[in-house]
Amino acid sequence: MVRFRGRRHKGLVRPTSWSLWSLPRHIVCYVLVVDVLALIITALLLVTNPPAGRDLVMAAAIIGLGLVNGEISRHVERMRRRFSDTPHVNLTSIWTVAAALVLSPGLAAAVVAALYLHLWIRSWYRVRGVHAYRLTFSAATIVLACHAATGIQQLLGPESLVKAEFPAALWGIPLAVAAFSAVNTGLIAGAIALSERTLKPVRILGSWHANALEFATICLGALAAILLAWKPLLVALFVPALHVLHRSLLIRQFEQAAATDTKTGLLNAAAWHTVITKEYDRAKREGTSLGVLMIDLDHFKQVNDGYGHLAGDQALEAVANALRAEIRRYDVAGRFGGEEFVVGLPEVGDKEIIEIGERICERIRTLRVPVNGNDVVTGLTVSIGAACYPATRGGLDQLLLAADLAAFGAKDAGRDQVVVSRPQARGRDAAERTSARPGGPEPT
Ligand code: GH3
Ligand code: MG
Ligand code: MG
Repeated sequence: MVRFRGRRHKGLVRPTSWSLWSLPRHIVCYVLVVDVLALIITALLLVTNPPAGRDLVMAAAIIGLGLVNGEISRHVERMRRRFSDTPHVNLTSIWTVAAALVLSPGLAAAVVAALYLHLWIRSWYRVRGVHAYRLTFSAATIVLACHAATGIQQLLGPESLVKAEFPAALWGIPLAVAAFSAVNTGLIAGAIALSERTLKPVRILGSWHANALEFATICLGALAAILLAWKPLLVALFVPALHVLHRSLLIRQFEQAAATDTKTGLLNAAAWHTVITKEYDRAKREGTSLGVLMIDLDHFKQVNDGYGHLAGDQALEAVANALRAEIRRYDVAGRFGGEEFVVGLPEVGDKEIIEIGERICERIRTLRVPVNGNDVVTGLTVSIGAACYPATRGGLDQLLLAADLAAFGAKDAGRDQVVVSRPQARGRDAAERTSARPGGPEPT
């Protein structure tokens, strides 16, 4: 039996203490409308379609499997939630989608309630960023998504998945899966759009990886539904498989966290070095080129002094986003520390690197970073040092040194510009001069 002991689960049992009430009113309204809508539609569906005994047994079986799964993986889920970037994809959709497809209308809500309550009590308690109102909102979006999927399934699908005949079964399940996905994603995107006042797809829809994972989970739920209707005992095979999947997701999150700079989401210095070493070796092996840009924000101390350190952090994040926007998918951007960034550009030579550097300068120059509620940081500029392999020889360290020294050159030449290291311009190689500026910077 579930018991709420001490202060641990206070948040869920005392809605008056929810941090929801401190949010702007339009967000509170949105969250409450979704919660209430989920309750009302569930009640209506249950009253108009009273579940048969078979449905109740099936619901109990799905809840049992979901709870066993949740219990086995609870430590993994807890760690994932701690490391998670929002939105966090938990794997309960497998059971809730299955419930939506095989149970009578409305009953899937009981599965959602049981599994989310278990998540809250056993996995998510006292994890930073997990609030009771978010849990109920997530559960409500899943309940509404389940109702949409059940509706489609009842409308288009066969009465029983076992006796399904094509094409009825063919259209029912994919459309139900699509409806589930659309309602869930749409409701969460609405909440993010309202709270962040943005319509940018990358912000409101989340990362490609998170969406792909959610969709894969929903598809597995459809498979679980077919098994439940056909050979229910076989569904137990999902439990170990899901645990292994869960663990591998955690490992991936660990790897990502170890390689990522938390402030900007770019690679940290160590991870960047690992990746660029591979790129350098590849360029040598295949006889191609590799460009490196060292990017240092100009007079950044003044931003901190003028607007505060937190605003400075927001400016760093905006610069990182600007860098991401200017480079190709397979270029390698990292934060070297402080207000210094570095970009590796495979197969980029002397000429192109100037253009890329100048594009970055231009983009940073026009950045407007809203900070502290009503201030805007403008006038940011960067000094960029560029160097390319094979023009700069002597190994990766020499290439980085050449780019670094060229960045100093850009500072000396007045900042807000790109300086390219040209070691061969004087017929010598940077590798020969480790203490001097390689070839001398050339302002572009
Ligand atoms: P320059 O044009 O010569 O590069 O001037 P600068 O002010 O950018 O360089 P300086 O090296 O004097 O100062 C770097 C500043 O960057 C000082 C430091 O407070 C700030 N900084 C470094 N890391 C962070 C960070 O993570 N967040 C914030 N907000 N500021 C940072
Ligand atoms: Mg610096
Ligand atoms: Mg600086």
